[in-house]
Amino acid sequence: MFEYELRRPNLGWETAKKSLRRIVGGLSPRQFFKWYHRMQHRQACWFIGSPTYVLTLNIDSQPDVEALPDALDNLAKWDMRAGFSCVGKLIERYPEAHRRIVEAGHELINHTYSHPGNNRARPDRYFGDLTPDQQSGEIQRCHQLSQDLLEYRMVGFRAPRLGRQNGSSVYDALIKLGYTYSSSTIATYTRAWGLPYPVHQEKHRILEIPVGCSVRYPFTIFNTRCSSSGPAPLYHGSGAFIQAFTETLTTVVECDAFLTHFFDTADVMRDGKLGRICALLADRRERDELWLPTYRELVDRVWKECQLF
Ligand SMILES: [Zn+2]
Repeated sequence: MFEYELRRPNLGWETAKKSLRRIVGGLSPRQFFKWYHRMQHRQACWFIGSPTYVLTLNIDSQPDVEALPDALDNLAKWDMRAGFSCVGKLIERYPEAHRRIVEAGHELINHTYSHPGNNRARPDRYFGDLTPDQQSGEIQRCHQLSQDLLEYRMVGFRAPRLGRQNGSSVYDALIKLGYTYSSSTIATYTRAWGLPYPVHQEKHRILEIPVGCSVRYPFTIFNTRCSSSGPAPLYHGSGAFIQAFTETLTTVVECDAFLTHFFDTADVMRDGKLGRICALLADRRERDELWLPTYRELVDRVWKECQLF
């Protein structure tokens, strides 16, 4: 039913498929995005008629911490829960701010201790370049801080900078901590059509939940930094960004598809983008058109309703 991340691929065929996807995606991105997500129906049992979206935010810089109180107020106003990718160093420095996330009923996601590859702090040192012991140390330290300072036990992980930063050694480290998921790959580069897929490691159960893109740029992560506020923004202005989010969400509902994004907290608070995103999601939820779980709830349902093994 699902395909597995760690299965050895036929590299020639995989490369050819990727090139073909890129050509088709470049010629007609909207149609490609729609087709790609409709293909989820070939693999999933529980997605039929059940469009699903998971909202997540990153707290990986000082401005993100500063924007956090307003972000939490926005989420509360729309009765919206989110996952927050948190960095151990910042939990250590601002435990009170992070405790508020837990108290508001949101989920915390392990985003390493020092966020290797961070644009400001460690631009020269990527998570994927660390030794397995160093990677495991980064994950464990963040996990421990969350437990000690916030009394919160994390069960999921997001690799800094995503993409190819997580290999089998990372999953080993996650399994040792009893984690149930990672969300560190990019939807259009997986072989499960952007759906969560199981990673087999010595019979342990762990899901990889790929992060999604948008109808206009189906191969680029749809987050605020890449899309609207980075050095080469794809969308000019917040209006264009929200328009792209609206179109993407409409496609998810039309295709009964699964999608998840992450947004950088400080960026998504600028110009009231988070409030508008929450309003769009809440509207779909009110009409019973969209399920808005946390990753924990999503993982529980996948194991309950799909025969994966
Ligand atoms: Zn990050």
